[in-house]
Amino acid sequence: MFRLKTHGDLQYYTIDEVEKTGLVKHCFTTRNGGVSENEYRSLNLRMNCDDKKENILKNYKIICDEIDVNFEDLVFSKQVHSDTIYVAERADCGNGITKPQKLDDADALITCQSGVPLAVFGADCVPLYFLDTENRVIALAHSGWKGTVLRIGEKVVRKMMNEFSSKPQNILTAIGPSIKVCHFEVGDEVAEIFLHEFGETVLEKHEKYHVDMQKAIEMQLLGCGIPKENIVNSGICTYCSSDLLFSHRKTNGRRGVMAAIMELK
Ligand SMILES: [Zn+2]
Repeated sequence: MFRLKTHGDLQYYTIDEVEKTGLVKHCFTTRNGGVSENEYRSLNLRMNCDDKKENILKNYKIICDEIDVNFEDLVFSKQVHSDTIYVAERADCGNGITKPQKLDDADALITCQSGVPLAVFGADCVPLYFLDTENRVIALAHSGWKGTVLRIGEKVVRKMMNEFSSKPQNILTAIGPSIKVCHFEVGDEVAEIFLHEFGETVLEKHEKYHVDMQKAIEMQLLGCGIPKENIVNSGICTYCSSDLLFSHRKTNGRRGVMAAIMELK
């Protein structure tokens, strides 16, 4: 279950099932508790936009201090709606925040090293968390509609299995706040792609088709052997909660981003 925590103005989610393992520091951020203004109000974590760089860095420090992560060590990738997965290590700390962004084609990050905080971003796209509680491996993925069709979530699990000997029954996964089927209207071409890849169960016919990305992702996770009870779905729609969360659709793209952050202790 995703639990909203409040500390002064700052609000963020933690995941009970992940918290309970005691293995990681983690969160999913909201709009609240930062210093940015206007469409970036207030906890904007989007690096390459016309928000003030100093405010963005302050926002990182605010949320990372709260969860006891060193914000200057964060590792993130450019996120280009690919299915490229990068295995990060300590030498990558700071990539994209205090060092130049060298991961310019990756949308998912894995690490088995402690003290390497990973982050992925979204403002409607689906953030995915993975934690192998036995082998102590973590991963985060950014699964927008293209990444969902490319099965990036499934590919992260397969990579954890192949390269870190993870067993699916030991992998805890979470599907973070993102645009849900209530608001994710798509054109016929995109609906057709989802129909072909996942079947009609991920579509709802309203005036136009709506796509259920979270269901398409659950199907991928179940398909590679993750037990249903190891999948925590936030059930939170960014568009429906746009006072609390940034939503690309709701704001016609005038928005900041939230981050999923996770670090092995
Ligand atoms: Zn909605």
